[in-house]
Amino acid sequence: MNTKFEEAIYINNNIRKPYSVEEISEMRRNDLDQFLSVKGFLFCPECNLPHLAHNSCNNKTDYFSTYPKDEHDENCSCICQKADRKILVQVDQDISLSRIKNRLEDCLSLLINDKAVANNPFKVFRNEQLLKKAMPTKINYDSDYYIPRKRLTQYMDSDYADQFYIFYGKVKLKSILISDKYHPHIFRIYHFKENRLVCSLKFSDNVYNHLPDTVKAIKNCKDNNDNYVYSCNIAFYTKMTSYYKKDSRVVGNTFFEGVINNSAKIVFQDIVQVNRP
Ligand SMILES: [Zn+2]
Repeated sequence: MNTKFEEAIYINNNIRKPYSVEEISEMRRNDLDQFLSVKGFLFCPECNLPHLAHNSCNNKTDYFSTYPKDEHDENCSCICQKADRKILVQVDQDISLSRIKNRLEDCLSLLINDKAVANNPFKVFRNEQLLKKAMPTKINYDSDYYIPRKRLTQYMDSDYADQFYIFYGKVKLKSILISDKYHPHIFRIYHFKENRLVCSLKFSDNVYNHLPDTVKAIKNCKDNNDNYVYSCNIAFYTKMTSYYKKDSRVVGNTFFEGVINNSAKIVFQDIVQVNRP
């Protein structure tokens, strides 16, 4: 069961507004009156049923949690079991069965744009063919499963390395061309407001060439003097590697890096060129 959330939807009469946990954390620090007026109207971003509470943490990232007596709708992914490694590998390997591209698009609709979607993008249903391929010997599945997700926020931690996630968020982005035999295209992804590096994504020539024209139109930074920065919404499915680099300017001196090995495993929205980060 998923118990921590990184966004909530504010619903009060006819007003709806999606908030990230970072936005509510900032409101709580800087505008307590506004926070107090909003906090009783925050709901689950998927099913809109249970109230969510904002939790401030000292050492970890803040998060939303479900009010103790409130319950999620039965169609919400939050009440499913977390998909295990075999299922997540199958999602990665069989992109037509897993419909990963649709899931990524629907993830942005649901969590960033507050648009209704026909199918919950995080759920893998117990009767889906995908499960039979992932676990051929298993006959009964106890429940539906959910694909874990991680919003691209200021802080990533080692929990998010070496496992498959749907990563998503509103970010800034730079495209860099390097001389590398296998992955010459790098997208550096920065926090939307704070401009800190969140992670990097690597692409081969072949995968890069299959990206949409709007993405390939992003100007490459060929050396340190180039500084073409774009904003966009992004969602992708991969496993990140973390590595430690002393004296670096990222949080905890730890870099996160993932490979996108198929253009169906990444989607973009609203790409706009902006100023330097
Ligand atoms: Zn829910």
